[in-house]
Amino acid sequence: MADLNINIYNSLTRKKEKFVPIKYPFVGMYVCGPTVYGDPHLGHARPAITFDLLFRYLKHLGYKVRYVRNITDVGHLENDADEGEDKIGKKAKLEQLEPMEIVDYYTNRYHKAMEQLNVLTPSIEPRASGHIIEQIEMTKKILEAGYAYISNGSVYFDVLKYSEKYNYGKLSGRVLEDLYSNTRELDGQHEKKNSFDFALWKKASPEHIMRWPSPWSVGFPGWHLECSVMGHKYLGEQFDIHGGGMDLLFPHHECEIAQNTVAVGENSIKYWIHNNMITINGQKMGKSLGNFITLEEIFTGNHKLLEQAYSPMTIRFFILQAHYRSTLDFSNEALKAAEKGLARLLKGAEILEKLKSSDSSDVNATELKEKCYEAMNDDLNSPIVIANLFEALKTINSIDNGTLKIDANNLQILKETYNTFLFDILGIIPEKKSNADSEVLKPVVDLVLNLRLKAKKEKDFSTSDYIRDELTKLGFKIKDTKEGFEWEL
Ligand code: ZN
Repeated sequence: MADLNINIYNSLTRKKEKFVPIKYPFVGMYVCGPTVYGDPHLGHARPAITFDLLFRYLKHLGYKVRYVRNITDVGHLENDADEGEDKIGKKAKLEQLEPMEIVDYYTNRYHKAMEQLNVLTPSIEPRASGHIIEQIEMTKKILEAGYAYISNGSVYFDVLKYSEKYNYGKLSGRVLEDLYSNTRELDGQHEKKNSFDFALWKKASPEHIMRWPSPWSVGFPGWHLECSVMGHKYLGEQFDIHGGGMDLLFPHHECEIAQNTVAVGENSIKYWIHNNMITINGQKMGKSLGNFITLEEIFTGNHKLLEQAYSPMTIRFFILQAHYRSTLDFSNEALKAAEKGLARLLKGAEILEKLKSSDSSDVNATELKEKCYEAMNDDLNSPIVIANLFEALKTINSIDNGTLKIDANNLQILKETYNTFLFDILGIIPEKKSNADSEVLKPVVDLVLNLRLKAKKEKDFSTSDYIRDELTKLGFKIKDTKEGFEWEL
């Protein structure tokens, strides 16, 4: 068991705190999952990879983690508030499918993309539509406590009433007075006492497809309710970590805290962790901006903004090269750099396997190990871990070319540290070269290099140099050996 002193930034207290789980060694972690009405995109990759890093690291340290990540399949309305159509219902109507066909189709697509990104499967992946009874129960509790009201068959959370006793805005830092002036009056808002009240239960309009009976109306639960319900159902009245993207901080997570406070108890969740957003060439990603890129488009290169395809591991590495609380700008230049950097680190792992130890050592591998743990313990600083791995790579190359010596003990520590952090904790997997590379490329390059060998024997140096120079331009490294040649791409 390594050092357990992880410091993690808690959005609730706005500072880094020492991570102390409520019931050591068990850790309960809930992360808001996708609303499944479209293909998984870049915006899905960052929270999934951020919390996968945390999940992997906590497990590596020996914690027993129960990781719950939900699927939102009902109740998420178009404008993220209480108006507009259900996102899934709208898509179902558009494509003339059952809403659950939409849900299953996109859930499968999401799972496939997550597998490609080597994101571990959570311990439990509950769906909102499977927890309607529990959502009705929590609504009843909030009504009984006097913090909600019924209006025209819908039930709304009474934010003003709640604010008399509790702090609505404690997570997001929003102040109620500002919410008064900032919220627009929308259609149907006359049902609410105040524009900032939010729905626990909505009466279904005649055209609304997904609907269930309740004591108040035939309708559907409000979006914020599902996470309060499923989090506490599977992780208990108090649990350690709630995560998600920064875009969910308000209103989604603020509303969750208000619901939890009334229905479960104050401070039922200890650490709130949020990852920052991805921008594309400096702009926010959005369908209307034409810079919306799905993961499949990235993996195939099939998008006007992409100069080439980028593999899932390039995307994973690119995301981990930034600290999760920093913004991350997506550009072809940055991705190509990530692709190259990752290839070098993976090559380093191959060289490392073949290194031989000496009797003496110029290398202190324990230092590397400590630096990597220090970085992870400092609010999951994956870019510093990666910088340390690049330092280690220099050492590996120097040992390989004979500039440095390493003894057996240090070699063992170097191997363990390099492989543990690169593969187990950062979650990188060596990608299989494409079939074209392995099945077609090798015989073709061998053929060309054999022609070069023949030219050399016949003292036709202009041809042999020409072949070498052209292959080098294409990115091949060619080495002349006693037996003939060696090459790599
Ligand atoms: Zn949520």
